[in-house]
Amino acid sequence: MPEGDAHVTPDSALNRRSFLARSAAITAVPAATILAGGALAQPASADVLPDYAPIPPSALGPALNAQGYFVGRVRRNLYWVTDGTYQAAFLTTRDGVVLFDAPPTIGNNLQRAIDQIAASTRVSNRVTHIVYSHYHADHVGASSLFGRGVVRVGHVETKRLLARDNDAVPLPDVTFETRRTLRVGGERIDLAWHGANHSPDNILIHLPDHDTLMLVDINLPGWAPYDSFNVNEDVPGSIAAAATAMSYRWRHFIGGHMGRLGTRDDMVVYQQYVSDLIDGVKEAVVAVDPTPFFTRYGNNSWAAVQTYQAAQLDYAAAPVIEKYTGVLAAVDVYTASTAFMLLESVRLDQGFGSQIHP
Ligand SMILES: [Zn+2]
Repeated sequence: MPEGDAHVTPDSALNRRSFLARSAAITAVPAATILAGGALAQPASADVLPDYAPIPPSALGPALNAQGYFVGRVRRNLYWVTDGTYQAAFLTTRDGVVLFDAPPTIGNNLQRAIDQIAASTRVSNRVTHIVYSHYHADHVGASSLFGRGVVRVGHVETKRLLARDNDAVPLPDVTFETRRTLRVGGERIDLAWHGANHSPDNILIHLPDHDTLMLVDINLPGWAPYDSFNVNEDVPGSIAAAATAMSYRWRHFIGGHMGRLGTRDDMVVYQQYVSDLIDGVKEAVVAVDPTPFFTRYGNNSWAAVQTYQAAQLDYAAAPVIEKYTGVLAAVDVYTASTAFMLLESVRLDQGFGSQIHP
């Protein structure tokens, strides 16, 4: 990607907030590559690009069709759609279709997937409702494709943030603050907001009659979190969200990302990965001696801090990468950047390692 914008590493710690403000979390890499065409027209020579561990087959989902999507049944009349990187879901009812998220990377394939299922199950293909998981454009940016006659449902903060930041996504017509049960065509959808996590407005979508939970951008089943712990804005809230998710009754998990659905076992692995990495950064705070870095860089405090933290991140990440290679895809790509977010959270949110000058 151009200008290193998508990489929040320790040396760009100060850019983190502006990055979050400017960028929808979890950028669609293929789309970004297309948009960046000119900048990527002279790629670095392939022989200087790093090698990474192979992707475990367990991380991959079903093959996409010729149009670039897969649609499958989750349970009964609940379906999911993926382009291999992003996911949406939809519920067919006797009164029309409820769509959950509208990622622009799937775009017009959303209606194609709905048409395909509606034709084969002889139900209406008309989308009547769209539920927004959160305001990020990479998950709701194709909502406008469904026109004005659709009831859009989202958290009050989703409406506020979309109104503030994004002219292209229709605002929710129906909002809620903590809980809302939608009943459409005899089907039940429970929406709940348990506090800020990945974004201030990210909600839990529970379909109790379909044994399914949708929680986007927290656990991406089979994969390590995306850069910088999924660019989660509230790290403690994001960690708590996984535990909250586990307190619900479900068997099928829709994480909003990558090529397959998740299970409760996937959530356990994710929680263990995060827990191991937190243990690692806490050990690193104690174990890595800052003296050589400050001695080497003198009055260049940022150079000292950057190299010191890089050593802490390496200390924390190395054993976690080793433990989860072959278990979670791409741990060798993004574990260090997630360790940085967790290091900052234990330092800033928890005050871990903080010392008051005597
Ligand atoms: Zn997001």
